[in-house]
Amino acid sequence: MDTDKNTAGKRPQALIVGLGIAGMATALRLHQIGWEPVIVERSPQRRTGGHLIWLFGAGKASAQRLGVLEAIGDRSGPETKSWEVDREGRRRPGFVAQGPLALIRGDVEAGLFSALPGDLEIRYDTVPLRIRENGERARVVLRSGNRESVQDFDLVIGADGLRSSVRDMVFGRSSFLHPLNYIVGATLLDRPIDGLTESEGLVLAEPGRSVMAFPFADRAPSLLFTYRTGDVDAEFTRPPAQSIRRAFGPEPTGDLLESLFARYEEDPDPLFDSTVQVRMPKWSRGRVALVGDAAWSLTLYSGMGASAALAGAELLGTMLERNAHDPARALPAWEARMRPFIQEHQDAVEHERIKFTPKNRREVVLRSLMVRLLSSPRLRPLAQLATGREKGVAAKDRDVAAVL
Ligand SMILES: Cc1cc2nc3c(=O)[nH]c(=O)nc-3n(C[C@H](O)[C@H](O)[C@H](O)COP(=O)(O)OP(=O)(O)OC[C@H]3O[C@@H](n4cnc5c(N)ncnc54)[C@H](O)[C@@H]3O)c2cc1C
Repeated sequence: MDTDKNTAGKRPQALIVGLGIAGMATALRLHQIGWEPVIVERSPQRRTGGHLIWLFGAGKASAQRLGVLEAIGDRSGPETKSWEVDREGRRRPGFVAQGPLALIRGDVEAGLFSALPGDLEIRYDTVPLRIRENGERARVVLRSGNRESVQDFDLVIGADGLRSSVRDMVFGRSSFLHPLNYIVGATLLDRPIDGLTESEGLVLAEPGRSVMAFPFADRAPSLLFTYRTGDVDAEFTRPPAQSIRRAFGPEPTGDLLESLFARYEEDPDPLFDSTVQVRMPKWSRGRVALVGDAAWSLTLYSGMGASAALAGAELLGTMLERNAHDPARALPAWEARMRPFIQEHQDAVEHERIKFTPKNRREVVLRSLMVRLLSSPRLRPLAQLATGREKGVAAKDRDVAAVL
């Protein structure tokens, strides 16, 4: 096993586990404040594609200060349109949110990646095996392919997503995961939905299940199935497409739904997962901290996972800079500022979910009413007040990482 001991006088070194939005944003920010980040990523190469990401004000502000907002781009536009449909193919105008940037996850990741400094070390096919933290340094055993090595760092950041191994190693496999009992299946379409133009999407919402195609101005939509289940584990005992088909039964499928199932089945590696929140009493221990989904997974229903990852990463760097680069002082200050913001969005998820997957007939009616009001320019302000949407959007736009 190779051992690499860092010597004093060098820039502080951080190990960042995960090359997703949280990991890259943290690396970028730490580099900006004079640290030397090293990223390890379990996959053999950087992933692309993904699913719809709305980026709200909180995320936009941090992306701007990180210098990546332009590179991330924006696929929203006045030409995008959505339809509320049923299985028989009847349709009426729907609602497309104006305000957040409409992106795919790969856009955000590509924008961040393009801004990483050329000399930043990224080790693919590499995972941490053990982390020992002694107050002074964090000692990490890493495995790259078949080779193991040991390296000391001033800080370790677990940005390795919902099923974080850093969380398991440092905080234990405790009951931090809170399943919401909904399943999500997603794919990016490579061509328009039959009968619609490229920038048109749709929503078919029924009690306990829905399918949505989120439109973009310049490419085919992002397709998303979600449904409620009483037994999450059982959903993973079948191929994803089969589980989705079952969830939309036993009623006759109809041509439209059938064509959407077929489009999901075309993807050799579609997203299929349960929606799970991560709730932890603390996001750091000694010289190890978690950022992004690893720390606080908000789920797709919040629409804030990417924004919170960007803001959390930026604020972490700011707090280190303000606290003499000392994690013992910076991490509690970071948590104190970030936690109320995350808490608010975690608590809002049950309400936000209704827009995506109404639980029962009452919620279907409520959602339908909300969409009708929001799609009428005259009634929209009233609807925004009545549904609390204005407050919700304001919370999503709050610039939590702004310098005080
Ligand atoms: C369908 C869907 C729709 C969504 N819509 C929105 C939205 O509209 N707006 C929004 O803001 N958010 C949305 N989200 C949430 C958003 O995608 C996530 O919050 C965000 O991508 C999380 O980024 P992350 O970097 O924390 O984690 P991840 O994206 O999970 O990245 C983790 C990285 O770590 C790597 N990794 C994992 N384990 C290891 C290991 N042991 N060693 C090394 N590397 C490892 C992974 O390969 C990956 O590269 C949505 C999510 C879904 C599923």
